[in-house]
Formats: sequence, C-alpha cells, structure tokens
Amino acid sequence: MPTSRHARSCRTSAVAAAATAVLLGLAGCGSSTDAPAGSAGKLTVVTTVSPTSIVSNIAGDKVTVVGVVPEGTNSHTFEPPPSAAKVMSKADIVFINGLKLEDPTAELAQANAKDGSEVVELGTMSLPESQWIYDFSFPESEGKPNPHLWTDPLYAIKYGAEVRDVLSKRDPANASTYATNYTAFAKKATALSDALKADQATIPGRKILLTYHDAYAYFAKDYGWDVLGAVQPKDFEDPTPKEVAALIEQIRAEKVPTIFGSEVFPSKILEQIGRESGARYEDTLRDDDLPGRPGEAGHSWLGLMRYDFSTMVKGLGGTPTELDKLDTADVVPDRAQYPQ
Ligand SMILES: [Zn+2]
Repeated sequence: MPTSRHARSCRTSAVAAAATAVLLGLAGCGSSTDAPAGSAGKLTVVTTVSPTSIVSNIAGDKVTVVGVVPEGTNSHTFEPPPSAAKVMSKADIVFINGLKLEDPTAELAQANAKDGSEVVELGTMSLPESQWIYDFSFPESEGKPNPHLWTDPLYAIKYGAEVRDVLSKRDPANASTYATNYTAFAKKATALSDALKADQATIPGRKILLTYHDAYAYFAKDYGWDVLGAVQPKDFEDPTPKEVAALIEQIRAEKVPTIFGSEVFPSKILEQIGRESGARYEDTLRDDDLPGRPGEAGHSWLGLMRYDFSTMVKGLGGTPTELDKLDTADVVPDRAQYPQ
C-alpha cells in the first residue's frame, strides 16, 4: 500500500473527531509520512482552487505552492487533465477542500502520489459529518454535502490553523514562520468577520439570500442570514419551468430586492427570474474565483470574500462602510502558481 493512501486513511478515519484528536490520530500514522523537509529543499504543496490563497498566506516563501484547478473553473465538475498527474507526483502535500468537492482530483493525487506524500482535506477536518449541510443543490440522496465552508470566515480561520499544523509537522525548521503567518491571517479574517457583522446590521429588513449557486449555507447559519433557496439544481443544469415559476412566486411574496448570480455560472434563467419577479439581478458573486490577476492586492481569499459580502450588503440596501475600509492584501506575498 503506498504511503500516501496510508496517510490519507489515517486522516479520514479521524475527521469526525475534534481537531486535537485528529492530530493525536496522526501521531500513530508511522514516521515515514511525518518526515521533515530537511535540507533537500522546500516542500512542494499542490492545492485546489478554494484553499490555494489560504495555504499561500500561511506558507509564504517557505513552500512551493502549485494550484491545479484553473481560475474561473466550475470546481464542482472539474476533471483534472492528464498533465495534472505529473504535478501530483511531485507533491509532498496535497491540500484540498474535501467534503467530496474534488473527488476526481483527490483520486488523481492518490494514484500519482510519491512516497511520503499525503492528501489533507481541510474542510473535512473542520466539520464533523453530523454537521454537514444537505440542500436543494446538494441533496442527501446524492451523498455529496454542500462543500462551501470557505465562504464562512470562521471556517477559513480553521483551514489556516490546519495548514499551519500540517506544514509545521512536515517542516519544523519553519514552524515559527507558519505560526506568525497564521496569526496575521487569523487577525485579518477576524477583522473581515467583524466588518461584515457591523455592515450587515445596516440592512433594512431580513438578511435574505437567493443565489444561483448555493455557496453560502454555512455562512448563513453562522451570520444569521436566511438562504431562501438556490436556483441551480444538483445536476448544475437550469431549473425546470415549474421550478422557475415557484421561485418567481417566492421572490414576489418575500419582496426580495436583489437576487444573486455567480460569475462562474452565467444564467439566462436568473435574468428572466429577475425580470419577471421585479428583483434586481446581481450576477457577480464569486464562490472561489479570486478577483483580479495573480499578484494584485485583491487576488486573495480576503479580497474575494470582502467583494462578496460587500455586494450582498449593498444588494439588500445596506452600506458596507466597514468592509470598504479593510485591507485585503495577503499577509505575505502570494507566490502560488495559479493555472489560468
Ligand atoms: Zn461552488
């Protein structure tokens, strides 16, 4: 059995346990997977789209970070190209979101893993299975939960802590750098969370969300928003005419001022729903596609979420004063290689 599979099975067997228990479980996973980077050079870390910016904030220049999912891609249906096998074969660690979001990518990583590598599922480690959310777009009958933990700052901070712990274990010589970067990232993510709480209080009426792509289920639960629904069915196709009619009815009844589309999923149907219901159609939310170009200040998880939260607050008639003031630049320069 390859070491990578061993490492993964150790992790996944412990995911339902608390974070400390996960770490204890790992301690029994054999020393070969826990070997430090040593003098042979930097660790090479491969990531999928949602965790890349968070991993880069913690890793800084101590690790080579390579993304495998091109930006602007539908991460739910992404199938890695054969060329990604070579990238995977060089990885010491593959960080993915998990919660069954990137199964084809995880399988490719397992199949091409080098000795001592490991696949780390940041989302799966952050949330016990009993708290997974299933809904219209992610029905329990299909077995895939809503995977969008990273749109909730509280979980992004957990991802950051997990990245710090995994990197520190593999590369103890740079543990203090990972700890410093995590502290700075957590501070900025907390400032984002506080700004959101202040600004969402300016929304007159209910904090109500009807989106095309269902990326805010965990966020809504933690920040007191009501997800009225998501337009996109589980097959990522358009809803049926009957479902469209029901949505229009619901938007009128609830007097929803703005409905939100996703930049990665342009939707004629949502445009039509907006026209017929009288709601404004705001089509620029992003669930994992970072704004701007690599190297620009807003091209970060912090920039992404500030944009989304600000757009949501404005769309519902609030004023994003505190969000606008935030500095969303990464805590260290992001050196990740982002495929385009
Ligand atoms: Zn998504």
